[in-house]
Amino acid sequence: MTDRVIAIADSGRSKPLPRTGPLPVAGPLADSLGRHLRDLRISVTDRCNFRCIYCMPKEVFGPDYAFLDRSELLSFEEITRLARIFCSYGIEKIRLTGGEPLLRRNLERLIEMLSGIANLDLTLTTNGSLLARKARALRDAGLKRITVSLDSLDERVFRAMNDADFPVAKVIEGIEAAEAAGLAPIKINMVVKRGVNEDSILPMARHFRGSGHIVRYIEFMDVGASNGWRMDDVVPSAEVIRRIGEEMPLEPVEHNYEGEVAERWRYRDGPGEIGVISSVTQAFCRSCTRARLSTEGMLYTCLFASAGYDLRSLVRGQAGDAEIAAAIGAIWRQRSDRYSEIRTAETAKQRKVEMSYIGG
Ligand code: SAM
Ligand code: SF4
Ligand code: SF4
Repeated sequence: MTDRVIAIADSGRSKPLPRTGPLPVAGPLADSLGRHLRDLRISVTDRCNFRCIYCMPKEVFGPDYAFLDRSELLSFEEITRLARIFCSYGIEKIRLTGGEPLLRRNLERLIEMLSGIANLDLTLTTNGSLLARKARALRDAGLKRITVSLDSLDERVFRAMNDADFPVAKVIEGIEAAEAAGLAPIKINMVVKRGVNEDSILPMARHFRGSGHIVRYIEFMDVGASNGWRMDDVVPSAEVIRRIGEEMPLEPVEHNYEGEVAERWRYRDGPGEIGVISSVTQAFCRSCTRARLSTEGMLYTCLFASAGYDLRSLVRGQAGDAEIAAAIGAIWRQRSDRYSEIRTAETAKQRKVEMSYIGG
């Protein structure tokens, strides 16, 4: 069968789709560095009701910021179609994200549609603000697990970080509702920024120890081009482990599965564990098995990419499933991303897509 080229207009942020191989293509898919495609993150909205200083700073995401128009968003049918095609390559896990995914109207409907895909680990990351209201419906729709972001238990620190004056108690309420709905154990993401919330490291560990939930400390990253990232603002995971370990001794735990980004640690003197995500100080590109689908249907093969591949134009054009599968296969096979391994102060200044657009 002859090779074909699917031509896509280069809009500046979009790369031309590569030459595809024979159709149809399915089964495990390895990139140019031998990494298999295993996880898919789907951003369902680029909007958010928070303005976290490390993600959507107000100076950039102000009242005049041009978010995507409704017509540009992939519909639930389009997302589900793409998800099924991705799953034909052996994707085992899909995470819904954003922006704030719970702002997308009728998200439960999408969850219901995706949970119809066999053997899929379906999860979602949220800021927790709407979780108290929605946890039960999400669970009923088929959601199995959830991750809630919470950067501090200190009211002043948390409000300063979300920059929307949102109170801690409401997020805790959301976590409790998720637990009551059967979504536990819950992962709690805390981005640690030097001089901002490093004093919240220990209180978070103390609070959630014994709850069954797992706090995951994330190194502040240079995603996007608007959060003013500096290496000095990063609190290395090794320091987080040392600080917690001085009060509550820790020991490492084996990874749950290949490609798991969090390094796991458990308390030596009783139940409970924590995780650290060391994307800056200990890059894990070598085992990176994640693809990202943006709200408007662009495929990104790295969180730090500056351009993606426009799958929406295929979905809205005449392309059949086999043709879309072939395009995804060709994109993944030629992938060679390893940004975190080659990060420097200079690369940190480069133009990249924003975290709220591509999904964390
Ligand atoms: N709005 C949802 C939330 O906050 O959970 C989902 C989207 S958010 C982009 C996904 C995750 O990325 C969150 O846990 C957030 O804390 C994390 N994140 C955002 N910007 C980050 C940065 N600059 N460095 C590290 N993590 C970041
Ligand atoms: Fe919104 Fe999540 Fe980004 Fe915070 S981290 S601004 S909650 S998308
Ligand atoms: Fe994967 Fe890119 Fe992050 Fe490396 S920098 S782990 S390739 S998303």
